[in-house]
Amino acid sequence: MEIYIHIPFCEKKCNYCDFLSGPADPKVRQLYVNALVNEIRERAAKIGRGEKVTTIYFGGGTPSILETEQTGAILATLFEEFDVTDDAEITIEVNPKSAGGKLQFLRGVGFNRVSIGMQSAHAEELELLGRIHTHDDFLKCFWGAREAGFNNISVDIMTAIPGQTEEMLAETVNTVLRLSPEHISAYSLMIEKGTPFYERFGETEGPVVGEETERRLYWMTVDMLKSHGYRHYEISNFAKPDFESRHNMGYWKREHYLGMGLGASSCMPEDGAEVRSRNTTSIEAYLKDPLAREESSILTRDEMIEETVYLGLRMMDGVDTDDFQKKFGVTLRSLYGDTIDDLSAQGLVYEGSSSLSLTDMGIDYGNHVFAQFLR
Ligand code: SF4
Repeated sequence: MEIYIHIPFCEKKCNYCDFLSGPADPKVRQLYVNALVNEIRERAAKIGRGEKVTTIYFGGGTPSILETEQTGAILATLFEEFDVTDDAEITIEVNPKSAGGKLQFLRGVGFNRVSIGMQSAHAEELELLGRIHTHDDFLKCFWGAREAGFNNISVDIMTAIPGQTEEMLAETVNTVLRLSPEHISAYSLMIEKGTPFYERFGETEGPVVGEETERRLYWMTVDMLKSHGYRHYEISNFAKPDFESRHNMGYWKREHYLGMGLGASSCMPEDGAEVRSRNTTSIEAYLKDPLAREESSILTRDEMIEETVYLGLRMMDGVDTDDFQKKFGVTLRSLYGDTIDDLSAQGLVYEGSSSLSLTDMGIDYGNHVFAQFLR
């Protein structure tokens, strides 16, 4: 199984962000770490040490905002309470501003993968996005991670930023390519309700630059990264050979995951069923009772089938139809034959001998394709 740890703190909220995150004073952060350590112990006691843990991911928020001792204490508790495999992938997301000086320590306590939020190489774009770091901060952070011994670094960049020209995006991508990280995530900026960008850009959701421009910038990024040896393995993710994010792959392949921390989601076996749950999203409630759930439901077989298909289709290798048959005892075709035929005729999916995947056009119409598999 996989473990996700949510650290919901950031120095300042970015202008586009609708994640469960925000500023908090050091006292609250310490109370949160205490509650999180309690949650880890209590959940471990409930679950037992049956399943081996193959990946751990500290996300947020900005996990690097914590003091090193706090991060170290959380990770040490996970090692104590769970059966973490020797070759587990252990990732921490860092902000270039707050990671400085902490990377050596993080490598030393057991993190072996670092994910750095770069977003853009341009000062004006970083400012528009409301990021707290400069491009120089990012470069220092990247080289600091290398010096600390991280040989698995992921860099996040953003496309479809308002005002972003092809030249500007090319410069950002080329800057990353020169650094040669093992993994790159490239997400298009989408406007989400409740963010400063939502007010600023006319209260509509989706890509602020328009669909056509967003797609053009997306494919330009894909082409540049692929031509430099990065495998396009998921709609927004690229990796050198063998450096795909194991944690995210597990999620898209529907492995069990246990999320801990504010608002973290889990999908775990319980009494022979598969239970999807989400922790409380209220920090007050979480500090009082870190086991408080906001929701919890048993997944039906239909829900598991739907998820297997639409999460699987996010990966360029697609849904493994042999695996599907082993898991559900029926073929994908027997359930979705007409849908697959229709989508194939429209050029949106490709049916191989043991897989079903999106075509390039299918990637552009991903949401439409996924919706066809909802039963
Ligand atoms: S650093 Fe990340 S989580 Fe925090 S506000 Fe910015 S985008 Fe959101």
